Amino acid sequence: MTENLYWGEPWDAPICEELARSNTYPLGEKCLLCGVTIVEGESGTYVGTMGLRPPPYALATTEPVHKECSLRSVMGGIGHLVDHDRWCVERGDPNGGLPYRESALLVWTFSAGARLGIAVLRDLLEDAHEMRVS
Ligand SMILES: [Zn+2]
Repeated sequence: MTENLYWGEPWDAPICEELARSNTYPLGEKCLLCGVTIVEGESGTYVGTMGLRPPPYALATTEPVHKECSLRSVMGGIGHLVDHDRWCVERGDPNGGLPYRESALLVWTFSAGARLGIAVLRDLLEDAHEMRVS
């Protein structure tokens, strides 16, 4: 059994509290999801690949995945998020015509923007509530 680890600097996500930080950094390795070489300053997790690849890679291994690519894998591509009908339905390309990695970086920005928007809305809601009760 392999232990799940994250690599690089921790980021604002529960996974960084739940997993241990790896002693190694996958510099020069390729991200399992986007295939792009990992460079200095990036972060992510090691994921199990059991059954994902044909022999001789069928044995249990762990490979690095960028944090942005992990998020993109669960949220969908940037095309899906901003215009599902155009990119997913009409063109069959949830990444909006971009390579997976570029789509993932935009999904990360989309998510950060959504969190920022939520924080602003939460403050506005609190202010409105304060005005009503005072
Ligand atoms: Zn990647």
